[in-house]
Amino acid sequence: MEINNVKGTHDIFGGEASAYSQVEAIMKNIAELFAFMEVRPPVIEHSEVFVRGVGESSDVVRKEMYTFLDKGNRSLTLRPEFTAGIIRLMVQNKLLITNELPLKVYYDGPVFRYERPQLGRYRQFNQFGVEAVGNNSPLCDLEVILLAYTILTSLGLENVTIKINNLGDENSRVAYRQALRDYFKDLLPKMCPDCQSRYELNPLRILDCKVPEDQKLVKDAPKLSAYLSEASKKRFETITSYLTSLGIPFELDDNLVRGLDYYSETVFEFHYTSGKGNDYGAIGGGGRYDKLVKEFGGPELSGIGFSFGIERVVSILRDDEIIPSDIPGVDLAFYVIPVGEKAQFTAHAIATNIRLLGYSADVCFDDIKLAAMFKRADKKGAKYAIIIGEEEINNHKVIIKNLATKEQIEVDQEDFENKIVELMEEHSHDCSCGCHDDHGDCGCECHDDHEECDCCEGEDCDCDCHDGEECSCGCHEEKK
Ligand code: AMP
Repeated sequence: MEINNVKGTHDIFGGEASAYSQVEAIMKNIAELFAFMEVRPPVIEHSEVFVRGVGESSDVVRKEMYTFLDKGNRSLTLRPEFTAGIIRLMVQNKLLITNELPLKVYYDGPVFRYERPQLGRYRQFNQFGVEAVGNNSPLCDLEVILLAYTILTSLGLENVTIKINNLGDENSRVAYRQALRDYFKDLLPKMCPDCQSRYELNPLRILDCKVPEDQKLVKDAPKLSAYLSEASKKRFETITSYLTSLGIPFELDDNLVRGLDYYSETVFEFHYTSGKGNDYGAIGGGGRYDKLVKEFGGPELSGIGFSFGIERVVSILRDDEIIPSDIPGVDLAFYVIPVGEKAQFTAHAIATNIRLLGYSADVCFDDIKLAAMFKRADKKGAKYAIIIGEEEINNHKVIIKNLATKEQIEVDQEDFENKIVELMEEHSHDCSCGCHDDHGDCGCECHDDHEECDCCEGEDCDCDCHDGEECSCGCHEEKK
C-alpha cells in the first residue's frame, strides 16, 4: 500500500528545492550584511513556551498547535513560530546580559500549524526571520523594516505593499480594549464564535476577523489612533518619517493587529499579488514586543522582529518568473561517460578529481549506448561530458565535449586538471544566467573570482592574478 504525505505538508525536491535554497541564501546573506547572527533553536519546546509567549487568545495557541505528551509525560509542542523559542533561547543562555544591545539574530526553518490547507497555507511551512532584542529606539524598528525591504527588493520583488500600524504602548491598549468591549458588547450575539471568544481574551483581534458580516461591524468600531499616548504617537511618526525619507513605500492600516498576542507599538506586514493574480496571503509580517523577554524571566527589554513565509515568497517568484521554472535540481558541471566496463573505475576516479577541484561531477552507472548517455548528460543539464573508453585509457587521454557548442577536444591525462579549471573559468566569463544583472549573490559561483576585477576588462583575462599570492601585475593591490 502506498503511504502518502501528511495533509497540509508538501514535498520539496529538484528545482523547487534549489529555488528554496537560493531564496534562503539571499535572505541569510542580507541578514548577515545587517550584522544579524544565525540561531537554530530546537523544533520542539515545552508547550508553555508558546502558551506564555504567543498568548492564549491567539488562534495559533487555541487551535493550531501540534502538542503531544512525550514518554516522560511532558507536554511538548512543535514550534508554530520562532519568536517565543528564540526569546527563551536568549534568556536561558544569558545572551541579553551584555552592553551590546540590541542582540540581533536571524533564523530559518520549518514551523507547524494545524490550519485548513489552501493556496499558500500549509501545516508545515518554512519561515525565515529576524529578531533584534534590547533596544527601543525607533531606529531599531527602522533597521528591521529596512532589512526586510532590502531582502524583498534583492529578490526582485519591487512592488511589495508594506502595511504598517501603531498598536501603542500597554496603557494605550488597555484604554482601547475597554472602548472596543463597550462598542462590541451589544453586537456580540450577531458575531462569529471566534469573535465571541476574542471579545474576552483580546478584543483587538476582532479587528482582523475575516468573516464579511463581522467586517461590516468592525468598520464603525473606535479607532486605536484616538487612544494612543503622545509618546507612542511621536515614536511612530519618527519611524514613518524615516521610512519616507528613505523612499520606502508604506500604507497605514488601522485594522492591522497581527495574529499573535505579544505585539505592541509598531506592527507591519508585506503583501504582494503575483503577475498571475495569485494572492497567497501576507508574505511576511512582524512587529515590536515589550513583555516577552520578561515573560521568560529575562530583563525588562523590548524587541522587534519579522518573519517571511518561504513557500509564499517562492510561489510569487516562480509565478513572476523571477526564478525560472526550469532551474535544475543539481547544477552539474561534468557528466562522466565510461565507454565499456573497463572504463567504469577510471570514470569514477576522474569524477573524484573533478570534485576535489571544486566542480560538480556525476558518472553514468549504467552500461548503455553512447547516444543514450549523451541524452542523460543533456537531461541533467551538464555543461561538459567527459568520455573515457579503453582506447583513451591506453593512450592516457580523455575526451571533453562542450554540450552546448558540441565542440570536442582530446587532452592528455596529465593536462586534464588544468584543462578542467581553464574550461570552467572560461565558462564563468560566458555567464549568461541573467541573475547578476540585479543581484550579485545568486550563489552560482561564476562571479566569485572575477566580478569585481577592473584590470582584466572581463573576457581576455589570462593573468592568473586572482589566485592571490602569485599576482605580480599590481592591479589587485587594493583589493587584497
Ligand atoms: P506569522 O508568524 O503568522 O506572522 O506568519 C509569518 C509569515 O509566515 C506569514 O506572513 C506567511 O508568509 C507565513 N505563513 C503563516 N502561516 C502560514 C501557513 N499556514 N502556510 C504557509 N505560510 C504561512
